[in-house]
Amino acid sequence: MTNIAPQRVSRLVNGRGKSLRVSFEFFPPRTEEMERSLWDAIERLAPLHPHFVSVTYGAGGSTRERTHATVKRILEETALTPAAHLTCVDATRDEVDAVVRNYRDIGVKHIVALRGDPAGGLGAPYAPHPGGYENAAELVAGIKRIGDFEVSVSAYPEKHPDSRHGNVDLDMLQAKVDAGATRAITQFFFENDLYFQYVDRVRSRGIDIPIVPGIVPVQNFRQVKNFAERCGTFIPNWLAERFEGLDDDVSTRKLVAAAIAAEQVFNLADRGVTDFHFYTMNRADLVFAICHMLGLRPAEKVAA
Ligand code: FAD
Repeated sequence: MTNIAPQRVSRLVNGRGKSLRVSFEFFPPRTEEMERSLWDAIERLAPLHPHFVSVTYGAGGSTRERTHATVKRILEETALTPAAHLTCVDATRDEVDAVVRNYRDIGVKHIVALRGDPAGGLGAPYAPHPGGYENAAELVAGIKRIGDFEVSVSAYPEKHPDSRHGNVDLDMLQAKVDAGATRAITQFFFENDLYFQYVDRVRSRGIDIPIVPGIVPVQNFRQVKNFAERCGTFIPNWLAERFEGLDDDVSTRKLVAAAIAAEQVFNLADRGVTDFHFYTMNRADLVFAICHMLGLRPAEKVAA
């Protein structure tokens, strides 16, 4: 793996003339083969000069070492800015704090702080660890006590499935901001109006941090639909219809997925959004194509 130097990038602007920024999310690989495809994706996407790249943390801290190793390798071998995801589920404060100190010591400056899902998965009842952080807001405060990290948190335009009401989500977002979070990244969604309605509700509470839309390019409709059902993301009929009959037609599915995601980000950009967080699923092709359509170019191609 060669070092990836930062490069000049041509950026399109949004509907209000402001520059666009992208970030990419990866998950830590489980096998050598997955490791290779992750690094292929990173090498392909790095020249687009993302604002940051984030690495997820497995349920119940199950990927602690792999997340750490991936973040460390990104720091050592690329010029990218990594953001390490961290959850407080099933861990004592001391254990979580040790992970945070470790990140501080290797030079990580950005953490995505999350409560996390219980070991039984999304939907299983959540109980904080007796000696652990109670929730994501407490985790943010704990992280800020250890180092001067930039801390991003989650946001749920369509309500978190555990929440009784959308207002409870806003209370939690407020608590996370009060504890020091300076950016929220949303759960993925397909109806942009739901995102804008949520942002209006956030702003009406006086919360002014960026609410960065999380964009999922639909690599596999069935899989995304399944996940959407569990996390409360609405799947509009038009989306299902566009993938109808394509289960065995991977190449057409890819084209359709790129077109849908591009349409979504163009609409968001036209309506004033500047920052986009892509859930890459460790694959570069769709995300690269969408970024290309947004006007992002590797530097050498701009200069030519
Ligand atoms: P919070 O913001 O803490 O809570 C969300 C809502 O649920 C709030 O309204 C809150 O009040 C309510 N709530 C919280 N706890 C309870 C409770 N005990 N009872 C009732 N209501 C409650 N998960 C991972 O495991 N690893 C990751 O790397 C990861 N990355 C993510 C990145 C993003 C951008 C997003 C949006 C999610 C990510 N998740 C990840 C998923 C996340 O951990 C789950 O959605 C989890 O269920 C909630 O954690 P949170 O910090 O998002 O929620």
